[in-house]
Amino acid sequence: MAQIIQKNSISVEQNWQKELASGFTDPFSLLKYLNLDPSDFGTHAEARRLFPMRVPRHFASLMEKGNWQDPLLLQVLPSNQEFLTAPGYSADPLEEHDTANPGLLHKYQSRVLLIVKGGCAVNCRYCFRRHFPYAENSLSQQQLEANIAYIAEHPEINEVILSGGDPLMARDDKLAALAEKLAALPHIKRLRIHTRLPVVMPERLDNAFYQWLINLPLQKVLVLHINHAKEVSPQLIDRLAPLRQAGVTLLNQAVLLKGVNASAETQAELNEAVFDAGIMPYYLHLLDKVQGAAHFDIDMAQARAIMAEVIKRLPGFMVPKLVTEIGGQPGKTPIDLRLHPQD
Ligand SMILES: *Cc1c(COP(=O)(O)O)cnc(C)c1O
Ligand code: SF4
Repeated sequence: MAQIIQKNSISVEQNWQKELASGFTDPFSLLKYLNLDPSDFGTHAEARRLFPMRVPRHFASLMEKGNWQDPLLLQVLPSNQEFLTAPGYSADPLEEHDTANPGLLHKYQSRVLLIVKGGCAVNCRYCFRRHFPYAENSLSQQQLEANIAYIAEHPEINEVILSGGDPLMARDDKLAALAEKLAALPHIKRLRIHTRLPVVMPERLDNAFYQWLINLPLQKVLVLHINHAKEVSPQLIDRLAPLRQAGVTLLNQAVLLKGVNASAETQAELNEAVFDAGIMPYYLHLLDKVQGAAHFDIDMAQARAIMAEVIKRLPGFMVPKLVTEIGGQPGKTPIDLRLHPQD
């Protein structure tokens, strides 16, 4: 690991951008790579029209060859079921699209979500932002300045969360410049980054990234998004090591997904693997009801039953908080695990 921290950040940064460009965008080439017969795929590829397919090579390398039901594959492969409509599902389940300040969400008192970059390295089919108008939220420097000014004027904010899309899609010089401006505000204590990029493409955690983040004079929290134990690769663990050593808090959030991780056993394995990697389980989200993702849904009663079993199997500090997002609430809503008669 020590060799990675060298003064060759420019070439390393080009590496992750090359890696990003080499990802799978055509389901048929991904199926071929996985030794799956494309003639069994039917008309599922049509769902690309709803949300393009994007799968980095590293993420594909973690999938089991020849297995249509691979839990990583199911998260990213377009499916006919995305055309189904279901009651209660909408294009904007969290009512985020209409915002007075584009690129800024201040729903919870002490923390604000800054959308740094639209788009992700991977397109997760269940994503609650799959219909998000990223083009309109692609920030001009001027809007970003306006959002920083908003944060400067709101002393109740002590934490800035970089989000997206995936904020690590942005270049490190841009991120470093933004972080420096935030660190200069006296009421800001913490910088949090919500990202799935290191999981699907560990190469993203490179020297240029370490340098600005580790030296930033704020508390630093990196919230990863890992849904299955198989996503915790040796490469990810290796690239996280310098961050752990530098005292960056590493957390994980996952989404409870049918066919992917919706059993007590899979959840126990996931959170053991996450903890082994030096990451603390943080949240397990119920699926946000976004149109096209209903086939991933696990209802509240099933989710409670799974977590009631998980708390028997894991020490308390390895159990993520089961939460859901309810419009208008001052924060995420924790779900009570006691069994309810109406379940
Ligand atoms: C989830 C979320 C946060 C962060 O909430 P925590 O409970 O602190 O993790 C902040 N703002 C918005 C809009 C969110 O959706
Ligand atoms: S990484 Fe996160 S924001 Fe990006 S597509 Fe997946 S779930 Fe959505």
